[in-house]
Amino acid sequence: MSEGYNTAEEAIQAGIDAGGVDEFEGMNCNDSLFDDDQAECAGWDGVDRRCDCGNRRVSWETGQYDNGKFYAYGVAY
Ligand SMILES: [Zn+2]
Repeated sequence: MSEGYNTAEEAIQAGIDAGGVDEFEGMNCNDSLFDDDQAECAGWDGVDRRCDCGNRRVSWETGQYDNGKFYAYGVAY
């Protein structure tokens, strides 16, 4: 999706259609895994309020490339 999208909404929808993101900004889920039996966080599906492991609340943020096209990424807040 590096070419970007015409609108921020399109960029977000494309992210959701792609199944979300494996990593997001502020993702520290796997830092707090002390138990080896615990599954690592699989990221964020782009729809739920929280990431896969439930540690962080995540939402879409969008930015614009120099060419004016939009991109979307996940950010914990
Ligand atoms: Zn997580």
